[in-house]
Amino acid sequence: MRARDIIVIPKMEDGDKFLIIQPHPDDAELFAGGFVALMRERKKEVVYVTVTDGAMGTWDPELKPEDLIRIRRREAEEAASVLGVSRLIFLGYPDADSLSHKELRKVFIRLIREERPDGLLLPDPWLPYEAHSGHVVVGLAGAEAVLFSPLPHFEPKGVTHQLSFVAFYATHRPNTFVDVTSLWEKKLEAIKKHESQFSPQLFQKLSLYLGLRSKEWGEGKGMEKAEAFKVLTPSHLHANVDTLEC
Ligand code: ZN
Repeated sequence: MRARDIIVIPKMEDGDKFLIIQPHPDDAELFAGGFVALMRERKKEVVYVTVTDGAMGTWDPELKPEDLIRIRRREAEEAASVLGVSRLIFLGYPDADSLSHKELRKVFIRLIREERPDGLLLPDPWLPYEAHSGHVVVGLAGAEAVLFSPLPHFEPKGVTHQLSFVAFYATHRPNTFVDVTSLWEKKLEAIKKHESQFSPQLFQKLSLYLGLRSKEWGEGKGMEKAEAFKVLTPSHLHANVDTLEC
């Protein structure tokens, strides 16, 4: 036995309730759509938290940010509905603006304490070459909220809650692979709802990429299509020299 084996990595699918925090309205489908659909198929609870309004996500100079906010909100609702999710929380922070780590941490602690999920899904803030500060700040503030939500003196006041795990998506160090083969078409159907983000040509290229990526993740594991996560317990998130290798 090795030191790192003492804290066992929980099995994501064993949770009954999941909170998935996404910086933008399409991240959940892109990186965890199969897992979300699988959990809903098993009648487990999934709640989406969308941090920013997605107002900057366009190449079209004619499309006004205020219109895009409305469009993206509808697309997010439709995409979530394809996967069987009906509870969506929109925090409405301005897209691509500097997000306050401290403020987000507080909001996430409140949500964790109110919703009381078993697992939290977050973008991996330690993904090398990640340039979008929205993903980095949301991931870091979320990870810190996982650490602090069981500690009563951390604001905001509320009944403390300890998560069993945090699962980082868009990660380059996955330790957990979920077989999403049977839900692959559903995942693509959900991504397709984000029409403002993916033109037909872009969608074609994206689905080719996602198909190959998921195949590579599933290789040697008996999975035709897999989604990949770095699953950790709260104890892995502070002064733990083994976490990188877990
Ligand atoms: Zn994003």
